[in-house]
Amino acid sequence: MRIGLGLDVGGTKILACAITSSGELVAETKVDSPRTPELLLEALTEAAEAIVDLVGSRRHEIAGVGVGVPSLVTSDGTLYSSPNLPALEGLPVREAFASRLHDMAEESGASTGSWNLVLDNDATCAAAGEWAFGAARGFDEAVILTLGTGIGGGVITAGRILRGRYGFAGEVGHMVIDPSGPTCTCGRSGCLEQFASGSALGRLGREWAEAGRAPRLVELAAGSISTIRGEQVLTAAREGDASALAIFAELSSSLATGISNIAEILDPSVVILGGGLADAGDILLSAVRTAFARDGRRGSGPQAIPVILAELGPRAGAFGAAAEGIGLVS
Ligand SMILES: [Zn+2]
Repeated sequence: MRIGLGLDVGGTKILACAITSSGELVAETKVDSPRTPELLLEALTEAAEAIVDLVGSRRHEIAGVGVGVPSLVTSDGTLYSSPNLPALEGLPVREAFASRLHDMAEESGASTGSWNLVLDNDATCAAAGEWAFGAARGFDEAVILTLGTGIGGGVITAGRILRGRYGFAGEVGHMVIDPSGPTCTCGRSGCLEQFASGSALGRLGREWAEAGRAPRLVELAAGSISTIRGEQVLTAAREGDASALAIFAELSSSLATGISNIAEILDPSVVILGGGLADAGDILLSAVRTAFARDGRRGSGPQAIPVILAELGPRAGAFGAAAEGIGLVS
């Protein structure tokens, strides 16, 4: 059976997974993310060596490697426009990493003598993972939103990942939903991720607390409003705190606007919500469904588009990268 390796570069750790072509987890490990961007290649090499070691006697079955990075990636594997990895912009990372993997593949007894290598945006990888093995399985038209610090996205259309001219398609987090909104990391104002990401949940919490409308959040933050994050809002919401639930409703209303815009353009069969914010589960889902049914033209009625939760959790990106590495998804 073919084994794919998936390396997902996160803010603090690189998650490395080895999976079979049917999505069975063979091995998993984490290494520290590079302290400086210049060390990215070293960290990727360390992660690859660690996961190959864990695959052990099955290493000859490895057929490909996928890497998910928090950056736009051109179709030839060059990093482009990454607020998190600015020093690497324009670097042909795929090419450089491929030469490092060459010896590892030979030593592992790869039947083809080398491993296929794919470098892709991390949210696109998460979409690929959910499509190959998770909540989007079986849907030829799907949109997967990764709600984390920002909002990443991936679009499946006609059974393939929508790539666009340069490989940048699916950046739904930077869809402007309110031009008078907060300034975004991309330089524009009022992008969806400013209103509906995990970070936005924390910002809304602080705003409500400052306005004296969220006493429970102030309590949870031991009186220090500036330290309120999304976690406290979720904790309060789970307790049934009315203010926290209203904050979720406000965030979900923005998210529903974004989903509605996406639905008008792409007509997907399903919209899937993943990423850290999706840990809120039914609290998020029911708020989004309510807002989408109210505000979205495709939120209700016979052609309503279902909104559901992702299934792979924090492994989605690594699983998708591995799936791309062995050509299950392209
Ligand atoms: Zn933006």
